[in-house]
Amino acid sequence: MKKIILGQESIYDGNLILVNGDHQVCASGREDLMPVGNRDVLLKRQAGLLLWELLKKIDATKSIALVSGFRSHKEQQEIWDDSVAESGWDFTKKFVAAPGHSEHETGLAIDLGLEKEEIDFICPEFPYDGICGKFRKYAASYGFVERYPAGKEAVTGIGHEPWHFRYVGVPHAVILSEEGLTLEEYMDFLHEYPYDKPYHYRGNGLEAVVFWQEALKGEHTLVSLPEEYPCWISGNNVDGFIITEWRGMYGCQKELRRA
Ligand SMILES: [Zn+2]
Repeated sequence: MKKIILGQESIYDGNLILVNGDHQVCASGREDLMPVGNRDVLLKRQAGLLLWELLKKIDATKSIALVSGFRSHKEQQEIWDDSVAESGWDFTKKFVAAPGHSEHETGLAIDLGLEKEEIDFICPEFPYDGICGKFRKYAASYGFVERYPAGKEAVTGIGHEPWHFRYVGVPHAVILSEEGLTLEEYMDFLHEYPYDKPYHYRGNGLEAVVFWQEALKGEHTLVSLPEEYPCWISGNNVDGFIITEWRGMYGCQKELRRA
């Protein structure tokens, strides 16, 4: 076993951070940003690479537009202010996250729209059929989930947004989509799976063990991990860490790790 020491600040960083009305963005999302494809939209490197791989796989680099990726706090504030001025308070609260509470400030969220002459920046058209349906079919296996689904508005605090996708990585996106969970619900779900009783996922050629590790208040947290498997650690931006031990991997993830 190898021992890993996790500092308090690590809670606020990683692919699984929960950002919503109750949990603000704490880490700077600026590190590790890259343009997606040849566009001027920025995402965290791994999210950007996988999104572009997926768009290429379904031959949609021209038919699906990257409407909005990473936004600085200042940009989010401007979008919020413009939306309040143009569309009013109720609309803005429903479809725009408050500055400091937007997933776009993490570099892990992307708004997608059908490519056309005029695309609505706040609510782009991204239906459930055609090429957008094809994107949805593969999204989870590339680590993306539709973050604000219909029927979960009371949980997420945001209206139904068919265009907003969040990168959480695999196996998490696959688990979220198979279990029908939002990221808020997934965090509660993982509280049931601590170190000594982890969650085992097997399916789609993928095998992983996932558990939640509570962060010790005001001090470092020590985690023991097996030597023989690659492990990924993410903060949850709430109370601790989500640890993923890989036992098997998707082809596309293997390719990217090699690249
Ligand atoms: Zn969005």
